[in-house]
Amino acid sequence: MDTRQLDQAFIANTYARFPLTLTHGHGSTVYDDTGKSYIDLGTGIAVNAFGVGDSEWKAAVTAQLDLIPHSSNLYYTEPQVRLARHLCERTGMARVFFGNSGAEANECLIKAARKWNSDQFGEEKRSTLVTLEGSFHGRTLTTLSATGQDVFHRHFGPFTPGFAFARPNDLDQMKQLLSERDDVGCVLMEMVLGEGGVVPLTQEYVQGVAALCREKNILIAVDEVQTGNGRTGTLYAYEQYGITPDIVSTAKGIGGGLPIGACLLGERLKDTLGPGSHGSTFGGNPVSAAGALSILTRIDQSVLDGVKAKHALIVDALKGAKGVQSVTGLGLMLGIECERPAKDVVADCMQRGMLVLTAKNKVRLLPALNIPDEQLKAALAILKEVFAQ
Ligand SMILES: *Cc1c(COP(=O)(O)O)cnc(C)c1O
Repeated sequence: MDTRQLDQAFIANTYARFPLTLTHGHGSTVYDDTGKSYIDLGTGIAVNAFGVGDSEWKAAVTAQLDLIPHSSNLYYTEPQVRLARHLCERTGMARVFFGNSGAEANECLIKAARKWNSDQFGEEKRSTLVTLEGSFHGRTLTTLSATGQDVFHRHFGPFTPGFAFARPNDLDQMKQLLSERDDVGCVLMEMVLGEGGVVPLTQEYVQGVAALCREKNILIAVDEVQTGNGRTGTLYAYEQYGITPDIVSTAKGIGGGLPIGACLLGERLKDTLGPGSHGSTFGGNPVSAAGALSILTRIDQSVLDGVKAKHALIVDALKGAKGVQSVTGLGLMLGIECERPAKDVVADCMQRGMLVLTAKNKVRLLPALNIPDEQLKAALAILKEVFAQ
């Protein structure tokens, strides 16, 4: 049996995979098992921040493999603390908890928000966390509950209680929700709803929500799992909205290809989680942490400027192009509304040697932060042809 037949026979049937087996790659080029090459505009869903097999990242990871690949969190390890210090110094946050995925980073975020509120106001007095309709926060039972999409609230009940949902970019509705309820302890937002269709929040909305939260002593939390780590043209997307969150979760691109997630706790929450209150066997694993440090230290102003320049290149090429209705998103996180069904665009791109994603009814692009302009231009030429068909 070949890989596809083995997958169908032995892998839980949770993924509707494309008929494509990837074998290797370099940078923004990946190859399938027939040797065909593809320009990769999906980066394993915003994970391969500097493309596949980035050499500095590989060197950092293999050097750590030679030292100690795993030790558990019963002992101190250097890559983890260096990574945490780097994150705190660049964000102004106070402490970091490491997990292994976006969902785990959000689990920690939710636990920290509940514990802080429990400490301040009493057990379960302000345990409700408000998220946005169309949001996505993960696949564990609690992060599914936090996800503001009804399709995720079926079949697996009972779900974790304690979530309420608000309409994105509707400040009046949030104002009403927060005035009607006295049990809200935290508002959690993605600055650009990713899986929800690459929908950016407006400046007025985010700043308005932040002001409401400050007024009512409600925590402000930001899910930067997809938007974080340079993806939107700043290290974290919230920086572009002029807010100071209390809690930030991130994952995906931070690991550059290895699993790691982080929950950043601000000054007010730095002592909220005490010994025994949370943990993870693999969290902050030295190999993943060394890889993440290699990625983050290189996301400097010139990389971030490059992200903005590549954003402009894409928008200039696609705005007004035949078959394109709108382009949304920030930096290298873009959603394209088009006349053709998004899934047909994906299939045609694949046939022509290019990998793109979808988000709801849009085509979604999440290219490597350092995709060469020449390769990006070649990709845009293909995309324009496919959209025009
Ligand atoms: C992908 C994603 C998650 C879940 O991350 P996993 O690593 O798949 O658990 C959570 N939030 C957002 C915004 C995401 O894009």
